[in-house]
Amino acid sequence: MAELNNNTHHHSARLTRLAVVVPCYNEEEALSFSLTKLLELIDRMGEKQLIDAQNSCVVCSDDGSRDNTWGIISEFHARDPRVKGISLAHNRGHQYALLAGLLEALPLCDCAISIDADLQDDPEVMVEMVELFNNQGVEIVYGVRSSRASDTWFKRSTAHAFYSFQRKMGLETIYDHADYRLMSARAIELLAQYNESNLFLRGIVPQIGLKTATVTYTRHPRIAGESKYPLAKMLSFSVDGITSFTSRPLRLIFFVGIALLVLDIAMSVYVFISYFGHDTIPGWTSLMLSVWFLGSLILVALGVVGEYIGKIFNEVKNRPRFAIKEKIF
Ligand code: UDP
Ligand code: MG
Repeated sequence: MAELNNNTHHHSARLTRLAVVVPCYNEEEALSFSLTKLLELIDRMGEKQLIDAQNSCVVCSDDGSRDNTWGIISEFHARDPRVKGISLAHNRGHQYALLAGLLEALPLCDCAISIDADLQDDPEVMVEMVELFNNQGVEIVYGVRSSRASDTWFKRSTAHAFYSFQRKMGLETIYDHADYRLMSARAIELLAQYNESNLFLRGIVPQIGLKTATVTYTRHPRIAGESKYPLAKMLSFSVDGITSFTSRPLRLIFFVGIALLVLDIAMSVYVFISYFGHDTIPGWTSLMLSVWFLGSLILVALGVVGEYIGKIFNEVKNRPRFAIKEKIF
């Protein structure tokens, strides 16, 4: 690794080997274009001596696609072996596909950049990311979007609600950063030690705690195909993010419980006063109201508790987080 090089004329400090990690789920419409673009970008960065283009690669992590995604990856690999692929046995979701890709890329690279297959996140800023890694010793570079103008109104507002809800629930994430980021090999090694099966990378990565930086870019519309993140998936992602990181909702229930207890004492006082004071038979309305209210409250509380128990259940099983079915490296 570290040959001492005293020859100053000869700038033979080994160039960075970059791995671009692309999670792909049913991306046949976008992938050919994306891979072509990424290879072209790698070559261009190679010409600028930013990276060692020949020993860099694109690692596609096929998340159990049902279309021709794997076929496209194989074709590209046949033409240019720098395109590599792993195929997960099932659709495990973006986060797991990404983790699998990063871990597989680790032995091949000095740093890896994760990017979505639709290239909505401007690939050109990879240049800045790599420069920060090369020259400033930055180990994690977050891609942050400067505008969401290209997203639909719905996506934009739900995404913002998602971030602020997470903040309120005590989860620290980088605002408007999705999973477009550079991680050094060291950062990935540290990430690999986070063994949790409920994976929420945007929450974990900031906890790794190496030297970080951000670069901003404008997000483009999807190049082809449609979003693989419909509302239902986004909601479950949001709940996962919170419950796998903080127990604040549990405490919230506790506080609501205390508040209700206080209310209940006041209520009992009132009930006793009415009992001794006047007629108490017409109590149907208030009874119904409180029964329904308390009932729903209990259900909500149980739901939250259940959410955590589900998490514990999954962690305790300690199952592998993904299974790689096939690999072309
Ligand atoms: N993706 C994945 N597994 C899934 C869903 C999505 O690997 O179950 C990948 C998808 O191929 C893409 C990235 O995750 O590369 C982000 O998905 P998408 O662009 O559809 O999400 P959006 O940009 O709409 O949030
Ligand atoms: Mg997208």
